[in-house]
Amino acid sequence: MNLKILAAAVLLIISGCKTENTDEASGKKITAVSSINIISDIVKNIGGDKVESFSICGVGVDPHTYHAKPSDPRLISKSNIVFINGFNLEHWIEEMISSAGSEVKKVTVSEGITPITDEKGFGDPDPHAWFDVKYAKIYAENIAKGLSEADPKNADYYNENLKKYLTELDNLDNWIKDEIQKIPEEQRILITSHDAFRYFGKAYGMEVKGLQGISTEAKVRTEDFKNIIDLIKSKKIKSVFVETSVNPKLLEQISQETGVVVGGTLFSDSIGNEGTPEGSYTGAVKFNVNTIVNSLK
Ligand SMILES: [Zn+2]
Repeated sequence: MNLKILAAAVLLIISGCKTENTDEASGKKITAVSSINIISDIVKNIGGDKVESFSICGVGVDPHTYHAKPSDPRLISKSNIVFINGFNLEHWIEEMISSAGSEVKKVTVSEGITPITDEKGFGDPDPHAWFDVKYAKIYAENIAKGLSEADPKNADYYNENLKKYLTELDNLDNWIKDEIQKIPEEQRILITSHDAFRYFGKAYGMEVKGLQGISTEAKVRTEDFKNIIDLIKSKKIKSVFVETSVNPKLLEQISQETGVVVGGTLFSDSIGNEGTPEGSYTGAVKFNVNTIVNSLK
């Protein structure tokens, strides 16, 4: 390693430490840890400059099959509040919190939402409620309440940010409804790798079919594979969609067998890279809707 690279590496380490230690540096910020980056982005919107917001699952990481890193309990132990989605998405979180060894306030952001349950009758709640924007509003309200309890002196500030963010979400909700209208009614069928879009379909009027069930842990059965191929042929579906956090292999195989086009890659259980338009919840949803509408209209 030459000296320049070494100096750059040292600088990186120093600046990395600095951003992680902002409690001390600014003296004021509280630390919030979320299970997935969809939630940590909403926390950023509500928490503004009073909250340092982290996510356990990074960009493109599948939360259904997540394996804890040694640094995760450490992150939780120095946090003031932990936000989880609930509906069995984070079956790994309890162990993580208990190995963090400290009492930390845990908030389930989906509280108050009645989940869609598995149509196959197992009664498992579908965790992907964030794709109905009116449910994302409930997430935001639960987050504002949690932050206000963890940091009461800034409660007015969080509620002010909540108000602004709810307006942004209302605008997004209306925009999606208008956009979906551009797809011919008989083409409003969304086929994806895993069943992450049932709330989306229900809210915005699309039939949805995932090759895998509501968790990527489920095995794909030959029968499901065949059913999707039949559906594509009978409805003359033009495009299917892969996801950033799920292996695209099986849908690509379906594409080869049927000639259906892979219309794009959707954000399902993770948003995009920070600093890009898709690095926010609202940006990722807009990207998805544009991708779906452009491929199916
Ligand atoms: Zn999922």
